[in-house]
Amino acid sequence: MKIKNILVVGGAGYIGSHMSWMLRERGENVVILDNLSSGHKDAAFCGTFIEGDLCNPTILNTVFTDHNIEAVIHFASSIQVGESMSDPAKYYENNLVNSLNLLNAMRSHNVSKIIFSSTAAIFGNPQYTPINESHPLNPINTYGRTKLMVEQILADYDRAYGIKSISLRYFNAAGAHPESILGERHDPETHLIPLVLDAASGRRPDITVFGKDYDTYDGTCIRDYIHVMDLGEAHWLSLQHLINGGDSNSFNLGNGNGYSVNEVIRSVESVTGLDVPVKYGSRRFGDPSVLVSDSSKIIDMLGWAPQYSSLDEIVKHAWQWHKRQANESNQKIDI
Ligand code: UDP
Repeated sequence: MKIKNILVVGGAGYIGSHMSWMLRERGENVVILDNLSSGHKDAAFCGTFIEGDLCNPTILNTVFTDHNIEAVIHFASSIQVGESMSDPAKYYENNLVNSLNLLNAMRSHNVSKIIFSSTAAIFGNPQYTPINESHPLNPINTYGRTKLMVEQILADYDRAYGIKSISLRYFNAAGAHPESILGERHDPETHLIPLVLDAASGRRPDITVFGKDYDTYDGTCIRDYIHVMDLGEAHWLSLQHLINGGDSNSFNLGNGNGYSVNEVIRSVESVTGLDVPVKYGSRRFGDPSVLVSDSSKIIDMLGWAPQYSSLDEIVKHAWQWHKRQANESNQKIDI
């Protein structure tokens, strides 16, 4: 019998590469499909790597014909909220049409299990917090809308074609592999923790805090930072659930603790021992003041237990990765 494989779409990206590593550690055979538009080939070392785009039906057909795919984990998407508003066509193509292409290839090849990377952005401005799965779905940007549409398509594809799916609505993915084997590398970088680390190490002159007049305890936005390895564990449990014949579902995924932007900056200062030059700027369009997950559903149903819920630990792993990257590129950083 041919060996079974897990297809990781977007496996050269930040979360997908950590997931591929975890799958390989646990004895799975991994096939990675990535178009390298934002991922890195050197991060896709934990499986058979195929460079290709979900808009290419020939590549999709080849992947499913040549490899015995048991299940798919789908990370590939465009993720910048601001860009999704200025260039919605890109988001409808990359996130919606391409997901549909993937699902139709799965149908053609009788693959019936998929884990989908969804987002807290499907909820829009929170009506209450922490946010559980009963919270109304009301995305306020194109990015969130594309993810919600795919969740709705998944429900139809289950009912009509028996494709089982788990949608995981990520809050703020952060951190890096604890031994710095992998980490976060976006270009351009827009996420808070890597930007604050850059400001601490002198790679950037400072960090601009987007708004200090929010209705929170220190006036800055509060977010739920979830360690990338804990995210990986949630995908692993979701995969086991589907492989064992479980039903489709969706889960919110955060570690349940909210931290303000100022607290993130203080954590970086304490972990690195460096000062972070800070500027206060205006609010960023579309940023809700507080986004914190109630993840009790996945904890209760799948036994998920986050290992790295302390912000300092998340920042510590991100910092180790940051230093390793700087050393490898021979960049002088101020440490
Ligand atoms: N943020 C900030 N300055 C930056 C980048 C982000 O103050 O240069 C804030 C942003 O307003 C939000 C939090 O940091 O409150 C996390 O933003 P990020 O872009 O990392 O993730 P998002 O919450 O948009 O998914």
